[in-house]
Amino acid sequence: MTEYIISHENGAQYPVRNIYCVGRNYAGHARELGNPLLSEPVFFQKALTCLTTADSIKLPPDRIIQHEIELVILISKPGEGISADNSMDYIGGVALGLDLTDRKLQNELKDGKLPWFLSKSFKNSAVVSSFHELDLINWSEKFWLKINGKVVQEGKMDDMEFDIPFLIEFLSSRIPLLAGDIMFTGTPKGVGIVHKGNVLELGLGASVLKTIRIT
Ligand code: MG
Repeated sequence: MTEYIISHENGAQYPVRNIYCVGRNYAGHARELGNPLLSEPVFFQKALTCLTTADSIKLPPDRIIQHEIELVILISKPGEGISADNSMDYIGGVALGLDLTDRKLQNELKDGKLPWFLSKSFKNSAVVSSFHELDLINWSEKFWLKINGKVVQEGKMDDMEFDIPFLIEFLSSRIPLLAGDIMFTGTPKGVGIVHKGNVLELGLGASVLKTIRIT
């Protein structure tokens, strides 16, 4: 069986199990798509086979794909009914990632009141950097996405509508979590189209955590 492995800077490697994503977790992005904010977080999933840690990727031809930079949390031990207060015990690391999205298809599916799944799940649609310790001081710095050297998105953990402890509490109250589950925690405003040949840099503060080329 093919495993989808992510690496931690401490040398650990984890086979990923499920890819969970949060929608509408930053007010600016909800506004730019014309979506109301909700009183509870909205979750969806990507197929595991969409995950990539590669330095260059191909995207499906004939589709218009948008970038969404996000903080991505690694769950390092199984749990259910986790309280927000205990949630840090379940976080094995944090990365930057791209929730790549076929926005036109997503809008068509939303208009038809159908699941978004295929607009979010295609090969290479879940990009992650290596994982790092969740040091709340460092990770409260701005994270950003540059395309060809120009900043196109930036955000801060503090700007989330639902913070990471609450997201873990909420999701684990509905479904058991597994070691190796990862969670994309939502994107700040500034989503836009990626083109073949673009070089994308994902960074936090002054550090670049991942560079990826669209080929
Ligand atoms: Mg997203």
